[in-house]
Amino acid sequence: MRMEFSAGGLIYKKVDKHFQIVLVLDSFDKWTFPKGHIEKGEKPEIAASREVAEEIGFENVRVVKLLDKISYWFKQDDDTIHKFVYFYLMEAPVNAVLTHQTAELKDARWFFPKDASKIVGYKKDNLPLLKKALAILEK
Ligand code: ATP
Repeated sequence: MRMEFSAGGLIYKKVDKHFQIVLVLDSFDKWTFPKGHIEKGEKPEIAASREVAEEIGFENVRVVKLLDKISYWFKQDDDTIHKFVYFYLMEAPVNAVLTHQTAELKDARWFFPKDASKIVGYKKDNLPLLKKALAILEK
């Protein structure tokens, strides 16, 4: 058994009064939020911004707040991994151009919340995260 730590973001923008959120298609064919490993000594918030820049090309996202720290288990080779992921609410830079790093991600797109909640994978974690984000945004 070993532990792993990652950080990522629920990134939003507002278009004509309506919010949109970025989902990425991961290598396991699930739509989810961009994230990646926290480096040694790195603050989770810094790791989240760095990963967002690396994975979808958004530099200078504004971190609004920590939404939650989720955890899940998976098997890799003969090891069992307990993984913890810090997810932050982040505001996309204006005129941000959405790209995706093709080595790890198959796609990246903006979704309206209703569509995101339908298509998103890992629903046990991702639906509550989406709900928390929207509760803050629509306040
Ligand atoms: P990172 O994006 O942090 O670099 P990774 O690509 O190495 O990570 P994960 O995305 O954590 O790895 O995927 C490892 C395993 O966990 C895969 O089988 C994946 O489908 C699964 N997984 C990813 N996110 C979740 C989740 N929220 N709940 C349950 N299982 C998940």
